[in-house]
Amino acid sequence: MVTVYLNDSKLEIEEGKTILEASEKAGIDIPTICYHEKLTPPGLCRQCVVEVEGARVLLPACITKVRDGMKVQTDSDRVIRARRTILEMLSGSTDLTAAPELKEQMVQYGADADRFKDTRERTYPVKDDNPFYMRDYSKCILCERCVQVCSSDIQFSYALTTTGRGYKNKVSTFYDKKLPETSCVFCGNCVAVCPTGALIASNEYNLKSEGAE
Ligand code: SF4
Repeated sequence: MVTVYLNDSKLEIEEGKTILEASEKAGIDIPTICYHEKLTPPGLCRQCVVEVEGARVLLPACITKVRDGMKVQTDSDRVIRARRTILEMLSGSTDLTAAPELKEQMVQYGADADRFKDTRERTYPVKDDNPFYMRDYSKCILCERCVQVCSSDIQFSYALTTTGRGYKNKVSTFYDKKLPETSCVFCGNCVAVCPTGALIASNEYNLKSEGAE
């Protein structure tokens, strides 16, 4: 066991646990985006950053292990500013209209959706290449949950991957093939873990397009 201090509250926790797990045990809310409890934390989005005494930069709680005597601030001004800016940057580049959790976080952190309104928005045509689900990558925040669930975390199909760099970074199939031409088995796990509605069952997409609730 190690002793950690979360916002000055003392907590005993097993060695090897992350700050995020420690905060859950202490009942302290740390927001996440790319993290999913059933998947290997990729530490990509940085929304769960916290301030650790002695560290020069903010650290992602989902992949940072606790150590004995660690002192962590989960909601300092610096942390809140970082989270707010991440949400504002996502909002400036991506369609978040079907991402309720992110919209809640925008409200919680007072994020200004228009702060980066002059950013070039990442837009792509909706991919409709199979009977089961649609891929609307204009809504994709590149959390990579779908890639992980499709590969060694759950399904071992390896139908999805990431491609491109920087602004052109996106989720795709290998060689951008249509899904029925890939190793996809249409298990639906990627749709289940997508936090933004970028992956959506075709019937649900069609109902929404027709204006149904
Ligand atoms: S499609 Fe969804 S799950 Fe996949 S990376 Fe984009 S937002 Fe994440």
